Amino acid sequence: MTIDERYGAIEGGGTKFVLVVGSSPTAIDAQEVIPTTTPAETLQRCIDFFQLYHAHRPLQALGVGMFGPVDLHPDSTTYGFITSTPKAGWGFTDIVGPLQRALNIPVGWENDVNAAAIGEAHWGAARGCDPAIYLTVGTGVGGGVIAGGRVLHGLIHPEMGHVLLPRISGDEFEGVCPFHGRCLEGLVSGPAIAARAGRAAGTLSADDPVWELVAAYLGMALMDFSLILSPQRIVLGGGVIGRGQLLPGIRAALQRHLNNYLVHPLFQADLADYVVLSALAGRAGVYGALEIARNAARA
Ligand code: ZN
Repeated sequence: MTIDERYGAIEGGGTKFVLVVGSSPTAIDAQEVIPTTTPAETLQRCIDFFQLYHAHRPLQALGVGMFGPVDLHPDSTTYGFITSTPKAGWGFTDIVGPLQRALNIPVGWENDVNAAAIGEAHWGAARGCDPAIYLTVGTGVGGGVIAGGRVLHGLIHPEMGHVLLPRISGDEFEGVCPFHGRCLEGLVSGPAIAARAGRAAGTLSADDPVWELVAAYLGMALMDFSLILSPQRIVLGGGVIGRGQLLPGIRAALQRHLNNYLVHPLFQADLADYVVLSALAGRAGVYGALEIARNAARA
């Protein structure tokens, strides 16, 4: 790091945007949280914020982690766009173009989950682990993969929240995913838990039986991800994960499903070093966006 390093970072969500100026989690010069309104108004507020600091001491680049789906492929005509989002007014909206034109600096771009995976890999619970998986369980469920020092894009980008899982005996819930019904997101997201329980996930007690089902399905999904990607660590984040006694339940379910099939010291005992919580307390996305900016400045 040099003394002149200074970047802008955006974590764009469906309800709020977090804006940061700085170079690392321990060197943040400024921060603002703005509500997500219309694209034009929200992007203009971002531009106003960064221009203020850019004029005072230049930013080398901007990094963006945005709710999606987004187009990550530079050769695409809609690169830098949010694409088919159900969020009203935001479908097929150019995000990178207006920011790049207004600030005239390189703009790096990922979806919000990939940004959080990058944040955990550089500053959080996945440091030194490659491959690593970051899985967020909140209003939606999404996963990002770090492999070979880079975040995996693939054809579009991974959508690990929508894998299909076998039905647990006695669970008649049909799921809430509008595309797949009882995919992982349809079974364990915040809205799924609320639909199961008839009230918000945050109001359920830690010993509510719903948590055991949620842990069992997440354990199944983590088994599939472990078998396909052989990660060195799986980091869990998102608003649902801290609820109930989910983490020990997920580890126990994963251990049960694996049934001693994978042989490695990490799979002994209680998986405490294999499945872990985010170390960045809800900041993984915006810190990841700082690293995305650093890479954009180097490109
Ligand atoms: Zn789905």
